[in-house]
Amino acid sequence: MILPIMAYGSPVLRQESVDLQPDYPEVDQLIANMWDTMYNATGCGLAAPQVNHPINLFIVDSQPTYDAMTAEDKALYYDGDQGVKELFINPHITYFPDRYWSDDEGCLSIPGLVGSVKRPWQIAIAYQDENFVSKNAIFSGMTARMIQHEYDHLRGKLYLEHLSPLSKQLMNRKLSKILNGKYASKYPLKYV
Ligand SMILES: [Zn+2]
Repeated sequence: MILPIMAYGSPVLRQESVDLQPDYPEVDQLIANMWDTMYNATGCGLAAPQVNHPINLFIVDSQPTYDAMTAEDKALYYDGDQGVKELFINPHITYFPDRYWSDDEGCLSIPGLVGSVKRPWQIAIAYQDENFVSKNAIFSGMTARMIQHEYDHLRGKLYLEHLSPLSKQLMNRKLSKILNGKYASKYPLKYV
């Protein structure tokens, strides 16, 4: 089932999420709905707060982005990664701050806008899978970027906070359009 995505301005997007417990009501259904919702909006990641559940859970699928890239870009941005489709429960990221890179990011809660965000190239992440089994993994490049973006959502942080004041200022008119519910989105958005 496709869920409405909480639009920029919704308080839930500024909230710190709590850990997901295995007895959370209808969590399997929520996860299935999140995949449907993300693909319907042609997104590559979605965090639970974006569908109004402030819990530590997000999904990422970097495969379509990987497939759409030229061989040269794959070598540059994926660093051996073939694209990842994964669910992350109660994640904790360790950043590798030795190398940073900037690239454009968008967000399903902030439709029609992109901004250049500087992030660490590589991360280590400890998390649980859909069976609450603990996992550890290292990601780099574009997949690491997507994971960091979704992880920020669990801390009530949007990519806008990483932008320079000037870039943010240039977005103000479009942002107020979203705030006022005047943005015609291709997928269902919810304004609170
Ligand atoms: Zn986002």
